[in-house]
Amino acid sequence: MAMPVVRDYRRLEQRLQRLSRRVWHVEPVGLVDGLRFYQVRPRKPRAGPTILLSAGIHGEEPAGVEAVLTFLESSPAGARVVNWIIWPCINPYGWERNQRRSRQGLDINRQFRGRTRCEHARLIKRLVAGRHFVLSLEFHEDVDGQGYYLYEGCRDRTPLAPAILARVARVMPLDPRPQIDGHRADGRGLILRPLTRAAMRRRRQWPMAYHLFAHHTDHVLGSETPVGAPLDRRVAAHLAALEVVIAAVSGDRGQ
Ligand SMILES: [Zn+2]
Repeated sequence: MAMPVVRDYRRLEQRLQRLSRRVWHVEPVGLVDGLRFYQVRPRKPRAGPTILLSAGIHGEEPAGVEAVLTFLESSPAGARVVNWIIWPCINPYGWERNQRRSRQGLDINRQFRGRTRCEHARLIKRLVAGRHFVLSLEFHEDVDGQGYYLYEGCRDRTPLAPAILARVARVMPLDPRPQIDGHRADGRGLILRPLTRAAMRRRRQWPMAYHLFAHHTDHVLGSETPVGAPLDRRVAAHLAALEVVIAAVSGDRGQ
């Protein structure tokens, strides 16, 4: 039972094609649900840490996709300091219909443990094979969100959540709930969920962040905006989080 189309993926593709070719290299790297899956990288890759930035794994979370496009279009100076792998819209079929799931009816963000028939998850696993990222930042949204909140998993490094939440609080309120999405939260926008090996083993359906944290990075962040807030505020909140991440990676975290 497909939802009606409410967004035009060709328009998104046109925006990607109009990006500065001096700065970005835009490449379709696969087909998902019959639509092109785009990967964006710097035109001139640098030696340095690589950030994995992604959005739109859930089709009904448009602010993340818009935030990535805005970032690519503005390509701020900070963007040129680090390396990137960027997936602006992981689930284009869902994004077009404002539906969470893929055309196959799968929540892509639960398909990362073991074998799967989800072509998005299979493609992503291929794309990251053999790679290491200093950090993975995912943009999400929450229809029940009452403010901005954040997931963070990191090992052997300083958490960025305090800096990100302090920065985003200047853009929009932080989510005050003590329980968010089934997890304990601190009432100021931070999900309290230590991402340990044991916790990961217990979970049967892995989100993308678990796969990345298990094999490709020591640091995962999930930036979550409330769908009820105006779109421009939600985009600004994600971009504020990204700004903190870039500053941290390009500054005291060079490795
Ligand atoms: Zn999501």
